[in-house]
Amino acid sequence: MISDDSFVLIVGAGPVGLTLALDLGLRGVPAILVNENVETANHPKCNIVNGRSIEHFSRLGVANDIRRENFSGDVQERVSFRTRFCGHELGSIALPFVGEKNWPGPESPWFGVSQVVLESILKQHAHKQASIDLRFGWRATDITIDEEAHTRR
Ligand SMILES: Cc1cc2nc3c(=O)[nH]c(=O)nc-3n(C[C@H](O)[C@H](O)[C@H](O)COP(=O)(O)OP(=O)(O)OC[C@H]3O[C@@H](n4cnc5c(N)ncnc54)[C@H](O)[C@@H]3O)c2cc1C
Repeated sequence: MISDDSFVLIVGAGPVGLTLALDLGLRGVPAILVNENVETANHPKCNIVNGRSIEHFSRLGVANDIRRENFSGDVQERVSFRTRFCGHELGSIALPFVGEKNWPGPESPWFGVSQVVLESILKQHAHKQASIDLRFGWRATDITIDEEAHTRR
């Protein structure tokens, strides 16, 4: 049971929860993050982090660590939609070229970074924040609003 005076409870340590924890930590806001698994993702999910996300990661001081893991090359990549891995292609979308000279953003349109790596970097940075309590191996099952505790503040 969590009943201390934290202002924020974050449920889930995916990219969103970890980024929120880091952002709150940099602002000195106390928060507890619970995640049911004992570690961050260990199986493939995202491989593409958009440039706009890197702009936010820059503000949070983690962009250089993420850039170091970037595997996007100087090639035109496409996302392919298929009936199965080696099956019929239903259609595809060309990703913006990473070397595009006239790209309007300050960052490349996208970075090739595995979510396994991304979450691990975000966790390391969130862990350094004094106001953030990371609790892996914890599952949120119920939330009770304690009106008395609320008015005590
Ligand atoms: C195969 C695949 C490829 C993808 N490729 C891309 C890509 O290239 N680019 C891209 O931008 N996106 C991609 N995505 C999507 C991306 O992975 C998701 O958008 C992203 O993971 C969502 O992040 P999140 O933090 O919201 O949630 P999640 O990553 O789902 O994290 C939520 C976490 O909360 C935990 N949790 C849930 N309930 C509780 C509870 N009650 N108590 C405690 N913990 C709990 C979960 O176990 C999980 O760890 C891909 C997804 C898949 C599956």
